[in-house]
Amino acid sequence: MSAPGIMPERRAKKSLGQHFLRDAGVTGRIAGLLDVRPGDQVIEIGPGPGALTALLRPLPWSRLLLLEKDDEYARGHASLPMPGLEVFHGDALGFPWQDLEGPWKIAGNLPYNVASPLMWDVCSRVPALERAVFMVQKEVAERLLAAPGSRQYGALSAWIQSFCVPGKGFPVPPSCFAPPPKVDSAVVVLTPVSGPRPARPDHLAALLKLCFQQRRKQLQSILRRAFPPEKALEALEREGIAPGQRPETLSPLQFQALAARLFS
Ligand code: SAM
Repeated sequence: MSAPGIMPERRAKKSLGQHFLRDAGVTGRIAGLLDVRPGDQVIEIGPGPGALTALLRPLPWSRLLLLEKDDEYARGHASLPMPGLEVFHGDALGFPWQDLEGPWKIAGNLPYNVASPLMWDVCSRVPALERAVFMVQKEVAERLLAAPGSRQYGALSAWIQSFCVPGKGFPVPPSCFAPPPKVDSAVVVLTPVSGPRPARPDHLAALLKLCFQQRRKQLQSILRRAFPPEKALEALEREGIAPGQRPETLSPLQFQALAARLFS
């Protein structure tokens, strides 16, 4: 059961969403799903005391980048240098994802308070994401995997699925962490979509936010307030979407096509 880190655990900080993995089976399965091959470039978000990092360090990567906001853990990892290992001491939400060159594999037992915005950024901004393996709250995993028309489907689902294909990893109970979180967790695997990525992510993001702030309303009523009414109705008609449909019935591809028409 014990998954020793590479440095002593300190008292967990709630503000940083710290729940440390204690289950060697879980860390082993996360590392296995990441599937690190010789020469890979790898990022771990939030290594903390290093339960997962301990398994990543011996793998045959060419670069391992650790992103950690906690001062002591960031300093601790920086004090254990290895060729190719770098520590980014700061907020992963402020990391320049768009500057990453070449393919990257990214893993993390994500701090639950920022997991959704982090995945939003990783999926859309890393130019050549190869694969991501993340531990998140079970409800967030369900939203990532949700199909249009389901109760869990929302802006995060349509956004992530516009860039990545989410796959089920495995469920993880609170007893695998110290301190145990109040909620169940799950590991998800994200791989890039095979088709083209959205050409204007900013337009797609704006449309998703607009629509899902009012998910109970009909699309015609949402869009006619935000765009010239004729343009809104024409865009819906051209995409074969009934004006009375609600946002949660649209697929990620329909949102992308609608955004392209509305912002043209
Ligand atoms: N990987 C460790 C494990 O599994 O035991 C720790 C996981 S803990 C759930 C989340 C980690 O993310 C903590 O180490 C925390 O300090 C770090 N963290 C929290 N917010 C962060 C942020 N915005 N940017 C980078 N790291 C963050």
